[in-house]
Amino acid sequence: MTHRVLRRAGIVITGTEVLTGAVQDRNGPWLSEQLAALGVEPAHILVVGDRPRDIAAALRFMAQERVDLIVTSGGLGPTADDLTAQVVGEFQGREMTLDEPLRGRIAEILKPLAERHPHLDRDAIEEGNRKQATIPAGSTVLEPVGTAPGLLVAPVDAVSEHPPIVVLPGPPRELQPMWERALRDGSLHAAVPRGQVARVRTLRLFGIPESEIALTLREAHRAGVEMSQLEVTTCLRGGEIEVVTRFEPAAQPVYEAFEGIVAGRHADTLYSRDGSTVDEQLAVLLNGSTRRTVAVAESCTGGLLLGRLTSRPGASAYVVGGVVAYSNEVKIAEAGVPRETIERHGAVSEQVARALADGVRERMDADVGVGVTGIAGPGGGSEEKPVGLVWVSVSDSGGSSLTRSVRLPGNRADVRDRAVTVAMHMLRRTLSG
Ligand code: ATP
Ligand code: MG
Repeated sequence: MTHRVLRRAGIVITGTEVLTGAVQDRNGPWLSEQLAALGVEPAHILVVGDRPRDIAAALRFMAQERVDLIVTSGGLGPTADDLTAQVVGEFQGREMTLDEPLRGRIAEILKPLAERHPHLDRDAIEEGNRKQATIPAGSTVLEPVGTAPGLLVAPVDAVSEHPPIVVLPGPPRELQPMWERALRDGSLHAAVPRGQVARVRTLRLFGIPESEIALTLREAHRAGVEMSQLEVTTCLRGGEIEVVTRFEPAAQPVYEAFEGIVAGRHADTLYSRDGSTVDEQLAVLLNGSTRRTVAVAESCTGGLLLGRLTSRPGASAYVVGGVVAYSNEVKIAEAGVPRETIERHGAVSEQVARALADGVRERMDADVGVGVTGIAGPGGGSEEKPVGLVWVSVSDSGGSSLTRSVRLPGNRADVRDRAVTVAMHMLRRTLSG
């Protein structure tokens, strides 16, 4: 980008359990998206343990980086090891004080808990309550979703070069509603700098190598598109290429010229211009005005395709069912594959993939059938049928069918996941005609 008008934010994730990998961070990515949607660019995410000096160091780093806002997650619990509020208070030059009305409100939240568990130690509850209600003087309270209040802590004048800090609880089921509520009721806006909202557009392609996109970027540059006004990131993910472009609203025509060049060069592999995923597109195609039902027969993917197809709410409207036909006997008995087809061509073959798709479609009375058979590895490959070879077939009750093989890279898990993605795209292609 030529000049920066976007505001930047830093995210500090606290929690030894996240740092050690025992719990996977769900707050960093979520906050990052939320900030981007507000036009604030997430500049850094730091993960630190529950140690005050490490939390303070992360805050210092963010301030040195001149971010316009810091958001923290975690460490607001009632126990003595949850110290984020105190560290943030000190960093912003604010004394810790007991907020008596807040203590009362937390006590109300705790009442039913104490009644349900009469053996709990009242003094310990009371002490935890006081700890959670002890906050940096002058900060704004975000009302608890669980028992922990969130905070907006601006710096005192003496440290006014520090950015404001939004302090949120660690559990995602508390952090997310708290953020959303603070956004709705306007309390976040006091802290969140109103950056210029960047536009973000996502293109998705399937079936080409990343190097082709690199060529297209150079081509766009040569064609006179002012690429310096666009921040383009390409990401190869599970066999798909995602091209994400951020730009200032004034650069919209530049983006459109770029998108036109991508669409022209990759007409056959660019399947999404609005950021929609293949899963979303399939749901729309199956659920559309001419509703169509699908059934699957899976060998090497072991049910992963059916899992992915049914992961969206409302899938029961168009997914009939499926079989995991792993052994030859099950392929014959449950998916209707003729025994001689397996004997003549082998279980991993074009003919068996086709028979799986036809068989499951007929047996389950679906409009479309999908068959998958392949060699996921690491063993079981041969020169003729190497590890990673997967046959996918899609058969339509209208009589058309699409069958092809792919040679997928990676380990067993990669091959299985990629095979599912290939099947999703072939299904999409069949349904969209
Ligand atoms: P409390 O201690 O009252 O639960 P807290 O604000 O102190 O609240 P933590 O103790 O840091 O929160 O985290 C509580 C639990 O929330 C963790 O055990 C973990 O399961 C979940 N959690 C915390 N941070 C994250 C995170 N970044 N991503 C996913 N889960 C998290
Ligand atoms: Mg904690």
